[in-house]
Amino acid sequence: MRLPQKHLCMIAMSLAVVSSAHAVPLVEPTLHIKPAASGAGRVALTLDACGGQTDTRILSALVENKIPATIFVTGIWLKRNAAAVAIMRAHPDLFELENHGGHHIPAVDTPQKIYGIRSAGSPEAVLAEVESGAAALAKTGEPAPKWFRGATAEYSPSAIAMIRKLGFKIAGFSINGDGGSLLGAKETARRIAAAKDGDVIISHINQPTHAAGEGVVQGLLALKDKGMTFVRLDDADGMGNNGTTD
Ligand SMILES: [Zn+2]
Repeated sequence: MRLPQKHLCMIAMSLAVVSSAHAVPLVEPTLHIKPAASGAGRVALTLDACGGQTDTRILSALVENKIPATIFVTGIWLKRNAAAVAIMRAHPDLFELENHGGHHIPAVDTPQKIYGIRSAGSPEAVLAEVESGAAALAKTGEPAPKWFRGATAEYSPSAIAMIRKLGFKIAGFSINGDGGSLLGAKETARRIAAAKDGDVIISHINQPTHAAGEGVVQGLLALKDKGMTFVRLDDADGMGNNGTTD
């Protein structure tokens, strides 16, 4: 009885096609940097500035300890945080500013909600989000961004292709340090301190009232004590999956 089985298989395949037309499966790409040739290892620290304010606990710790970081800023955050931007610009050796979108709208070109945030919903809206983020950075006098990370760090595969065509690499990560800034200080510190050679850490620098920020500082200092080197994305060979960097 081979025929019915073959039919069942085809029915299953066509169902998969139908359901994907409704909600496109999203991807959360990973990113690693080339491991260090020698020494204790190196990691890339990436911090998102989605909106809101500046966690000066983190910013001060980075400056005092000379820890380089790649900061993903939105147009909204840039407008409200001129003092923090000035500190970052005063330390071009430490801070690389990259594109987190104009309005913190997920780069997903079909209408859906991700973590409760409404997606861009169309290719045009994804384009507008990416380009307005780059334009906001250009206005501050920063070098043109080379990396993009969308709000929620989730993408539809077609949005990834569009963003790559615009010339941006897409910044995934390999260690979710602060769970969207919602974790406690202890767990955040534990996750960051566990980073290994070649890891890319994501955390947030825009939630000064959250306990997670304290954990970010503790975790980074623990890595520094271990002799770990910190590099920015523009100083490392980032290797992402899902076609995000190649
Ligand atoms: Zn964000």
